[in-house]
Amino acid sequence: GVGKDGRIRMRRLVTANESAKVVQEALQRPSQRSTEKIMGIVNPIIKDVQTRGDKALLEYTHKFEKATSLTSPVLKAPFHQSLMQLPPETTEAIDISFENIRKFHAAQREERPLEVETMPGVVCSRFSRPIERVGLYVPGGTAVLPSTAMMLGVPAMVAGCQKIVLASPPRADGSLTPEIVYVAHKVGAESIVLAGGAQAVAAMAYGTESVSKVDKILGPGNQFVTAAKMIVSNDTTANVSIDMPAGPSEVMVIADETANPAFVASDLLSQAEHGVDSQVVCITVGMDEAQVQAIEDELHKQATALPRVDMVRGAIEHSTTLVTSTIDEAMALSNAYAPEHLILQIKDPVAARDMVQNAGSVFLGDWTPESVGDYSAGVNHSLPTYGYAKQYSGVNLGSYIKHITSSHLTEQGLKNVGGAVMQLAKVEELEAHRRAVEMRLEFLKRRGKQ
Ligand code: NAD
Repeated sequence: GVGKDGRIRMRRLVTANESAKVVQEALQRPSQRSTEKIMGIVNPIIKDVQTRGDKALLEYTHKFEKATSLTSPVLKAPFHQSLMQLPPETTEAIDISFENIRKFHAAQREERPLEVETMPGVVCSRFSRPIERVGLYVPGGTAVLPSTAMMLGVPAMVAGCQKIVLASPPRADGSLTPEIVYVAHKVGAESIVLAGGAQAVAAMAYGTESVSKVDKILGPGNQFVTAAKMIVSNDTTANVSIDMPAGPSEVMVIADETANPAFVASDLLSQAEHGVDSQVVCITVGMDEAQVQAIEDELHKQATALPRVDMVRGAIEHSTTLVTSTIDEAMALSNAYAPEHLILQIKDPVAARDMVQNAGSVFLGDWTPESVGDYSAGVNHSLPTYGYAKQYSGVNLGSYIKHITSSHLTEQGLKNVGGAVMQLAKVEELEAHRRAVEMRLEFLKRRGKQ
């Protein structure tokens, strides 16, 4: 992170000079704190909220948030105007972003149910329904995160979820940041749970006297939140699902000689300022020494001028620049890493997008910093981290929807497909299955003879 000369710099590797193993190791995520230890802390909190409800929930909020004056853990809609007083420029920024996110997620709606006649008289359909009750966790602690409230709440609203519950830890005086109340109001939330961590997750998973039970919990959070989501989603008595595993945020920037070094550095830093556990990777393509140096100079210069420079130092500690010669090599490394955010500051970013196999969200060209996607462009910022972009999508309209299928056969349809069904039922020795078809086919035969 910080060299002998006091400079803030990333480790640099020239891939051509290193073994594949060394390059791979450079792309390892920093290891997470022992999950066993976290589970040991989180499990009793969940049990406690499950058995003692509101009383336990409030006690944890008094303890962790120091909000000892809080007497009710839930704020029910309609929310009072005085709770969402904002400067007009903030209201406008939220409104613009909200509308872009709404537009992009509304466009993800399926126009009509899928219907396929697989054989004459055998019609299979698939239609969608919103998940009825969703719980959206908006992390609190020190940060104010109206953007996360929008990224989780707007698609829930667009999907048509009947009950939207927000949860966020209150400030020490027991209040919530007005930005979050304003967003909750705009998405039509039923209530806001004034709690954080495992206790908030447990309250939404099981319900309490005043917290509504939900069917799915979405949203990022620290290790206690993540562990709690995993525990409740594994408990069949809770009957609740979650969005995806979450880890520290990360960015990969791929830059070639056409990139502006100041822009590249600014994107690396906007990730690094999230926290010391953030991971930042820069891959240069076909740059000479002076060009790589220019990015490093910019990184140091811009970093030292940031208010969160200490956070940045920690993150840069385990961050790497990989110097490569071709875009093919860079994209192969990126696909193996599966970054949450992938920024392409190269001559032809659209062509390179076609080569993306694993990534949460991709940002194309000089004029698309990650920040626009984090807040206002319309794409979602709740994305798979820690390599999970290999198998998970980020939060999208589909995260709030389930599909139901139906089949509808005519008499002829059953005649056409019945033989196959009966034979497979015979192979599986499920006689009642076989007879359910046979009985109907015999009925049709008898009726045909009359
Ligand atoms: P948080 O809301 O996730 O967690 C606060 C809660 O942690 C507290 O209410 C408390 O219940 C619990 N907690 C803290 N210390 C505890 C302890 N010792 N034992 C038991 N419980 C404890 O807020 P945070 O801690 O500020 O973390 C925010 C997280 O969210 C960060 O990891 C950040 O990276 C992540 N984040 C992600 C996104 C995204 O969209 N990807 C956005 C914002 C934040």
